[in-house]
Amino acid sequence: MRDRAEKTDIRSLGLDELTEALQKRGEAAFRARQVYEWLWKRSCTSFAEMTNLSLELREWLSAQYSIRPILLHHQQQSSDGTIKSAFRLHDGKVVEGVLIPTENRMTACISSQVGCALGCKFCATGYMGRVRDLDAAEIYDQVVHINRQAESSYSMPLSNIVYMGMGEPLLNYRQVIRSVELISSPTGLGMSPRRITVSTAGIAKMIRRLADEGVRFNLALSLHAADDDKRNTIMPINESNRLETLREALQYFSRLTGNEITLEYIAFDRFNDGIDDARKLLRFASSFPCKINIIEYNPIAEASFIKSDSSRLEAFSAWLEQKGITVNLRRSRGKDIDAACGQLANKHAPGTEQATI
Ligand code: SF4
Repeated sequence: MRDRAEKTDIRSLGLDELTEALQKRGEAAFRARQVYEWLWKRSCTSFAEMTNLSLELREWLSAQYSIRPILLHHQQQSSDGTIKSAFRLHDGKVVEGVLIPTENRMTACISSQVGCALGCKFCATGYMGRVRDLDAAEIYDQVVHINRQAESSYSMPLSNIVYMGMGEPLLNYRQVIRSVELISSPTGLGMSPRRITVSTAGIAKMIRRLADEGVRFNLALSLHAADDDKRNTIMPINESNRLETLREALQYFSRLTGNEITLEYIAFDRFNDGIDDARKLLRFASSFPCKINIIEYNPIAEASFIKSDSSRLEAFSAWLEQKGITVNLRRSRGKDIDAACGQLANKHAPGTEQATI
């Protein structure tokens, strides 16, 4: 028998590949669909649980393939109800995901990479560097797990998913797209892609690729400054993806998909929160249909930015609203457990896994 480490991860196979593998050993096509349903719809973690398959087939599957669920490694609940989870991957690496409950929404914020190469100066993940990409199953499992937390803690299933945790989703393009397909497929979680938002720091050519592929989910751009010089100082990716290039890519995305674009804007005290900054933001935002989320900055140990005070934030938002822009002022959630925007960085100590997916 092959060692577990050498076996193919069965969830890396698409339904076609699985069907082909099973047909080669003389199984009918519906067997592959049964296995697929166990793997995705039921998030089954062992072949032994697949009780509508013959014992012989289960043993064969188990000899050929592995299932690699992520494990809940650590969990913290904020005083505001936000739950941050650290998940251990099959190779011991850890990523974080967050459940953000509000009165009428249950939002999962999930990770797409371990660490991140883009090094945004306000983001704890950026200081880790990129460790590795997640595969689609590892992204999917975060959603399954956080959905269970939403149901057990708040008696509500997830209503929204945002790819805003650790990593730049568009630098792990193929696996992110596959994970969205699995989450929205009737053979997976069956969630509407309209309830999914993928957030990017701004990789123009990948935004165009999303448009060309006609994706149905929403797109968010972490903008944070509508001025190239300022943006360069906080987001090094801006040096190779300047605002004009991003603006054109977003226009293209909006034209081809008709999907909503959200501009995320963290307000830093006297850096990007003045009326002149709002004017530049208005110019950028007027190029395509969008809404703007103004986000309170959450301090991290690695950097010394200061958050805008409430009166500046409100004046900034009000100015944009007067110009007809839709603005949401987002107060921080989960700050006390380092679960807020920009704070994810695997700070917890290693320990024992608490549960499996
Ligand atoms: Fe990466 Fe996003 Fe953090 Fe920038 S903000 S370093 S893109 S995880």
